[in-house]
Amino acid sequence: MAKYDIVIIGSGLGGMECAYILAKEGYKVCLLEKNRQLGGNLQIFVRDKVIFDTGVHYIGGLDEGQNLYRFFSYLGLMDKLKLRRMDESGFDRVTFDNDPLEYPHAMGYERFYETLAAIFPKEREGLKLYCDKLQEACDSFPIYRVRDAVFNEDDLSYLNIGAKSFIETCVQDPKLRNVLAGTNALYAGYADRTPLYVHALVVNTYIESAWKCVDGGAQIARLLAKGIKDHGGEIYNYCEVSKIEMGSEGATAVLTTDGRRFEGKQFISNIHPVQTLDMIEEGFVRKSFRKRIAGLDNSISIFTVHIVFKPDTFEYLNYNYYHSKNADVWSAIHYTEENWPENYIVFVPASSKSEKYADSRM
Ligand SMILES: Cc1cc2nc3c(=O)[nH]c(=O)nc-3n(C[C@H](O)[C@H](O)[C@H](O)COP(=O)(O)OP(=O)(O)OC[C@H]3O[C@@H](n4cnc5c(N)ncnc54)[C@H](O)[C@@H]3O)c2cc1C
Repeated sequence: MAKYDIVIIGSGLGGMECAYILAKEGYKVCLLEKNRQLGGNLQIFVRDKVIFDTGVHYIGGLDEGQNLYRFFSYLGLMDKLKLRRMDESGFDRVTFDNDPLEYPHAMGYERFYETLAAIFPKEREGLKLYCDKLQEACDSFPIYRVRDAVFNEDDLSYLNIGAKSFIETCVQDPKLRNVLAGTNALYAGYADRTPLYVHALVVNTYIESAWKCVDGGAQIARLLAKGIKDHGGEIYNYCEVSKIEMGSEGATAVLTTDGRRFEGKQFISNIHPVQTLDMIEEGFVRKSFRKRIAGLDNSISIFTVHIVFKPDTFEYLNYNYYHSKNADVWSAIHYTEENWPENYIVFVPASSKSEKYADSRM
């Protein structure tokens, strides 16, 4: 008899959410994490008594009724998170070399549209179209809107339109096109490959409302871990899965590097698909599938510099900067050693120590 109904590999946000939902629904769940700290990209670290995020720097959609609010309410997080609402007149500001202007992404569709239309008055109609289509694209994903409906096949068109070409059909001004795509580092955007829906689902959530986690995003992982355990789930850290044992019906157990074995009826791997397949012996997965997954490109990575400020020297910024050296924001990923970096982001973490001064930036 398997000890667990569900064994989950990896305690990133996805793994923890699965564990929480399934434990709450009465399944016997076990979550395995190779590191000491849970949360994957939600992990924080501390230098000179200053907290730094590793992955999640700001989150969106947390106003009442919005999508993350509804997910986080279900997950028991909403009344416990320490959050700071970002600057409504421009939570993200897109800037370029040789251009003194800051181009704000303002919060709420009306403000977003009016703010950019004031800078690009000839593009009023195009901006309206952009905002309407963006929301329409999000509406076609019921799970994103937390709506009880099936995916409508007629809406598949959103999967086949490119983000860059969509923006180009809405507005004509080259600068505005780059301002609208200016935060594409959020989703590792490629000019010829990134679909509209990826751009829409990410950008929409922040336009709805943008927030920073005060003292870091690890609070999300801590609260989820408590919720999982409160619902009877088990969590093991320092527990690196190295093998998935297979039987005639599928996976039966996982083995860890230190020799432990966890049996389950069902398994969820929340780690890289190539690493997951590498843990399964030959003969259980079609070779063509393995080859296809192994052949997929990884998205571009980010190099981060973390700076600790002397106390009360750098005023806290309640917004992010997305700066591009080049007028074409889609070209930044094609860098050489000589011209790198072609773009950068500035995040200023929200600290409970002060609202006026920042103690760090990234
Ligand atoms: C630099 C950066 C900045 C980001 N900024 C933001 C942001 O501002 N806002 C936002 O909403 N999103 C942001 N994201 C995206 C967000 O952080 C991720 O989408 C999300 O956290 C990924 O969660 P995940 O569940 O896929 O798992 P991951 O976070 O990838 O976690 C996977 C976990 O699996 C564990 N693991 C791996 N192999 C094994 C094994 N063999 N056995 C056991 N455990 C294993 C890892 O240690 C890790 O804990 C950012 C991401 C990055 C990288």
